[in-house]
Amino acid sequence: MIKVVDLHKSFGDLKVLQGINDSINKGEVVVIIGPSGSGKSTYLRCINQMEEVTSGQVLVNEVDITDPKVDINEIRQKIGMVFQHFNLFPHMTVLDNITLAPMKIKKMEKEEAEKLAYSLLEKVGLREKASEYPNKLSGGQKQRIAIARALAMKPEVMLFDEPTSALDPEMVNEVLDVIKELANEGMTMMIVTHEMGFAKEVGTRLLFMDQGKIIEEGVPKDIFDAPKEERTKLFLSKVL
Ligand code: ADP
Ligand code: MG
Repeated sequence: MIKVVDLHKSFGDLKVLQGINDSINKGEVVVIIGPSGSGKSTYLRCINQMEEVTSGQVLVNEVDITDPKVDINEIRQKIGMVFQHFNLFPHMTVLDNITLAPMKIKKMEKEEAEKLAYSLLEKVGLREKASEYPNKLSGGQKQRIAIARALAMKPEVMLFDEPTSALDPEMVNEVLDVIKELANEGMTMMIVTHEMGFAKEVGTRLLFMDQGKIIEEGVPKDIFDAPKEERTKLFLSKVL
């Protein structure tokens, strides 16, 4: 579904991604771990072209999205993204947050968009919050709404960048449970996380990144139990 070929990204002199090669198959749940500043967020942002790549290719369903001729809005509809900070529109109700993009970008009728929104609210367990404003919600609820909003575009892939890092501990699980459910339904996902238990449970493949490279990859349990690379060992010894 996604193929990444020798991806490089620099900010001025700072080489942030230094040759990433990867293939993400349909239905895979790729979890990405690594030290702060290793390029995890930049990697996800290059996959939906929120960052322009310096060199290399990102193919989504065989289309090279780094080609300037590609309609990037069409690509972004296929790739949903959820961030650490929920980025809900504060002046809009929960329902309007979810229906905005389907109506504006997909030209969905209001009635259909609202029907979809209610079904997604049901899915994330927040149907009763449809007419609330975001500032009335807890962090965990906001993040579940952000997930529902991304799902409203019916993406083929979901990217999560530390979806629980900004949450109070007691709210982490309600968000992880929603992501687990998506995994069970076969959603293709890439998830940057510091939740190692979750990574082990949900990830079909784990990438350990350091200094802009994938240092080690494999089945999460195998890497947690017996990391091969020194840098992976060092990192895991600090976080486990
Ligand atoms: P991670 O998500 O693994 O913590 P990031 O991808 O956010 O790492 O950042 C990797 C490096 O790139 C960091 O040194 C960061 O400061 C730098 N960086 C990220 N975005 C920008 C930007 N827009 N401009 C300049 N430097 C950036
Ligand atoms: Mg990051």
